[in-house]
Amino acid sequence: MTRVAARFSTKPDVTNATTLATGPRLAIATDTVCTDHVAPPQHDEDPERFVAAQRGFERSQCVDSALRLPMRIATLEELARAHTPQFIEQVMATRGASGWLDPDTYYSPASSEVALRATGAALALTEALLDSCQQGVGLWRPPGHHSCADRALGFCLFNHVAVAARHAQQHGKQRILVVDWDVHHGNGTQEIFESDPSVLYISVHQGPPQYPETGAPEEVGTGEGRGYTVNLPLSVGADGSTYAAAFERIILPIVEQYKPELTLVSAGYDAHELDPLGGMCLLAEDYAWLTQELVQTLGGAERARLGLYMEGGYHRRALTACVQSTLDALTTPERIAHPRASGRKLTARHELELSRIERVQREHWKL
Ligand SMILES: [Zn+2]
Repeated sequence: MTRVAARFSTKPDVTNATTLATGPRLAIATDTVCTDHVAPPQHDEDPERFVAAQRGFERSQCVDSALRLPMRIATLEELARAHTPQFIEQVMATRGASGWLDPDTYYSPASSEVALRATGAALALTEALLDSCQQGVGLWRPPGHHSCADRALGFCLFNHVAVAARHAQQHGKQRILVVDWDVHHGNGTQEIFESDPSVLYISVHQGPPQYPETGAPEEVGTGEGRGYTVNLPLSVGADGSTYAAAFERIILPIVEQYKPELTLVSAGYDAHELDPLGGMCLLAEDYAWLTQELVQTLGGAERARLGLYMEGGYHRRALTACVQSTLDALTTPERIAHPRASGRKLTARHELELSRIERVQREHWKL
């Protein structure tokens, strides 16, 4: 085990709980077992990603003050709220073996255990947000948002955010927001909640031909869930100014109207300009700005209940910087400079894309 990972305790930090009792509390949920999901050679989703993400936390301003949540596993009953029993069984049956669940999604002997505990960490984070913590971050792997009710996809075993949202529903929450800023569309999360108006799924992502090629603006949900799926596909090269425009013109006004009781961010960092899988141009400070704007729209640090649930991010140095940057953004009262302040401008192509998305969303929201 690495030195970075070894610092995490299995016991809640009672001292922190006491010192932070008067202000917004930030929780961290993670599990060192996540490095035991062993990647085949040259695979992008490797254990070093977890070490890189932990390093971001270690370098953040909240390293000493964050409430470290106890590790736990997800139970089969909790998983079954988002996944079929057959699929859960399929993942559990991989124990002790190595192979592939789909052309992208491998498993190693400990992967089923890692999957149970990574989703367990997501549940622990959710419980903290439902209890006394205003904000929090969950660091784990593999990612989860491509995983559908009945199948593994795109490096993902269990869908952490989907299981977490179902957990919040069990605790009586009726308006749960999922903001997915991973560079890939979270097709699994969308599919699980597309007919459910109590979970608003908003995804900003790189559109086709980027994997998984879903998430068109016209995919707005089905049945009672119509209007509660919001997709913002952008073409290659979108930078901080493009994402800022997407947030200011579409995402934040919708969040304001929905008034979520709990916000889960599917926090992938593969839209960073250095990421080998994405074609976008975000910087670590852009993620910080997005985080702060979201928190402000949710009523500020004292009132917002928001967790960052780790998804993708495949450039290790960028992943460290992005985790640190978003955690610092949650901690500091100082506002991060607007991405446009650096002189970057919206391109005509991205303006056209945003206008098309606005047209679709005006049928459901005031924009
Ligand atoms: Zn991704």
